[in-house]
Amino acid sequence: MTPAPPLTLDQYAEGVLGGDRAVLGRAITLVESGRVDHRKLAAALLERLLPHTGAARRVGITGVPGVGKSTFIDQLGVNLTAAGHRVAVLAVDPTSRRTGGSILGDKTRMERLANDPNAFVRPSPAGATLGGVTRTSREVMVVCEAAGYDVVLVETVGVGQSETMVAEMVDFFLVLMLAGAGDELQGIKKGILELADAVAVNKADGDNAERALRAASDYRHALRLTTPASAVWEPPVMTCSALANEGLVEIWEQIQLHHARMDASGELAVKRSGQQLRWMWSMVEENLLADLHADPRVRVAIAEVEPEVRAGRLPAPLAAERILGTYRSADGVEGCS
Ligand code: GDP
Repeated sequence: MTPAPPLTLDQYAEGVLGGDRAVLGRAITLVESGRVDHRKLAAALLERLLPHTGAARRVGITGVPGVGKSTFIDQLGVNLTAAGHRVAVLAVDPTSRRTGGSILGDKTRMERLANDPNAFVRPSPAGATLGGVTRTSREVMVVCEAAGYDVVLVETVGVGQSETMVAEMVDFFLVLMLAGAGDELQGIKKGILELADAVAVNKADGDNAERALRAASDYRHALRLTTPASAVWEPPVMTCSALANEGLVEIWEQIQLHHARMDASGELAVKRSGQQLRWMWSMVEENLLADLHADPRVRVAIAEVEPEVRAGRLPAPLAAERILGTYRSADGVEGCS
């Protein structure tokens, strides 16, 4: 298959804003690309698209593998498209985590939504993922919003900082839990409840319904011990069955209520502008480091000092200074220490 001819900035922008799925897919591939020329075009595209964003509901969804995230997102998404919404999902590609490779074998995740003309499911690219979140998830979210998706669901599994990263890019962070045997609070990652705007105990069906209610009550107690992030919102704890489509309407109502309150109090604007600033700084830091590593003279300096540091012959601070000094002089940015 011959590759499609490259698109111009205008073609990307018009295609995305016009809701052209093929162009949308290519625009996402563009913003996910690490190539320098792609990064430039992507930045120009994002600038064009940004004025067309901001109205979407941005919802992060996390939970351990097996909690029912894809079942939940599939069902919630189908409910939402049936109600007239257009839903984009930034989904975890579990095979990429396990094999670092192909996106095969994940065909059945969110099957209904993947075939829904009013939904767009984008698995995270293989390789560069951290629990489903990538360096470019926010850019992808911008592109999806500009393409007219008014709900963006961002899925993540709790790997490393991935939950914090997702919480940093959404308006509402939903934590899915399971009712376990014994200590209900076992195995919860520290800090996860602090990030939650709501907790939902999934699989509250059949024999498990009773246990789910008890677990919900335990989480309610645990949440009381945390400091709420918002003055106008106390994170509710609910139960649901993604499989039976029970409780999902109520969860969506809470997401809407949260949005209304945060908007009315001005907290939403503050939250989003803070997120934008932190996004800017994380890009600055990331790109500075990438620039540094890409500099040929710096590479030589690194190759020289690393063995010396390892052997204990060169103190680490001195080596760091040498690398930075090389970078500054190579880049013509002397004097800014
Ligand atoms: P993920 O790894 O978090 O995406 O979880 P999946 O959505 O793949 O679900 C894992 C398993 O749990 C699957 O076999 C689902 O059918 C099942 N499951 C998901 N939600 C429910 C639910 O609400 N009730 C029950 N009984 N099973 C569920």
